[in-house]
Amino acid sequence: MVLVLAETTKGKFKKAAFEAVSYGYQTAQLLGTECAALVLGTASGAEELGKYGAAKVYHVQDASLDNLDSQVYTAIISELVGKLEGTVVILSHSSTGKSLLGRLAVRLNAGSVAGVNSLPSVEAGVFKVRKPVFSGKAISEFELRSPNKVLSLMGNSYQPKIVGAPATVENPNVSVPARRIKVKEVKRVEGITPLPEAELVVSAGRGMKGPENWGIVEELAQVMGATTACSRPVADADWRPHHEHVGQTGIAIRPNLYIAIGISGAIQHLAGVNNSKTIVVINKDPEAPFFKAADYGVVGDLFEVVPKLTAAYKKFKAEQGG
Ligand SMILES: Cc1cc2nc3c(=O)[nH]c(=O)nc-3n(C[C@H](O)[C@H](O)[C@H](O)COP(=O)(O)OP(=O)(O)OC[C@H]3O[C@@H](n4cnc5c(N)ncnc54)[C@H](O)[C@@H]3O)c2cc1C
Repeated sequence: MVLVLAETTKGKFKKAAFEAVSYGYQTAQLLGTECAALVLGTASGAEELGKYGAAKVYHVQDASLDNLDSQVYTAIISELVGKLEGTVVILSHSSTGKSLLGRLAVRLNAGSVAGVNSLPSVEAGVFKVRKPVFSGKAISEFELRSPNKVLSLMGNSYQPKIVGAPATVENPNVSVPARRIKVKEVKRVEGITPLPEAELVVSAGRGMKGPENWGIVEELAQVMGATTACSRPVADADWRPHHEHVGQTGIAIRPNLYIAIGISGAIQHLAGVNNSKTIVVINKDPEAPFFKAADYGVVGDLFEVVPKLTAAYKKFKAEQGG
């Protein structure tokens, strides 16, 4: 059995949930088994996960599960896995997935791999999965020989595909332990796609000189419908909020387009962004290391280039009729 945790936010499924279910379905096909999805907390439209390949959806409709408590989530998933035989648990490589992976691996005595970005394979009966390592400079292959396995899937690395029809939703009748952590307040960034799910990202660094200059970055992001990000020193200096910090010690992202403005391209920054499908670099220094990782580069002063890019994008949108 392949069991996929389908994440929600405010009762709606995240894009990552559909990616994980599609990935789970393909993994189940490979193993000759079924894929089931697990939904925890209040959510509507759970049956829709069937379209992405879940033969069955387990839904624990309990409002106490609306916010992650990794001990409680681990207990529920472990109890459910205990009822199934030899399970591959698939999580999204989100903050939720990251907090669950290690706990689940211990609880289930399972081999685990965090941040996979391609489908597993089975060679001579051995389950193998690959993931990028050393800041994306190499690919490592892992062999998981334990009956239970836990994987977390990098966001934006697997396209959701419709393969079936809505599934039946059932209550798996697992016990929901009492929380030991009390959630007092939840603060969410509203109105924009969160960075791990963003397909378009406009990011800026110390070349911006100060927080007062970020208007041009925000305007470009706004006309493109992109999410903003930043380098670490910028977040450390409080020029931008910490949730925008990408890189080795920040969020690792994999958007379709990453525009890097006034960022040098240090290895620690690249570690979080070099899996982006297309990278555009704007930097006045032609020797900036980021150009080596770029698909397109503009050597120039960002204070001239960025407003021109925004104007060109606006013109393009107007010509396309909106
Ligand atoms: C353990 C460790 C972990 C780290 N983790 C991270 C991490 O997760 N993420 C991260 O980002 N960093 C991380 N760092 C820091 C990293 O090493 C770099 O110091 C940092 O990424 C540099 O940020 P920057 O590119 O914004 O600034 P800088 O290196 O100062 O680069 C600024 C760039 O802007 C360009 N520029 C200046 N003015 C203009 C202009 N007018 N027009 C166009 N271009 C201009 C410059 O040519 C330069 O290339 C980490 C470091 C360590 C030691």
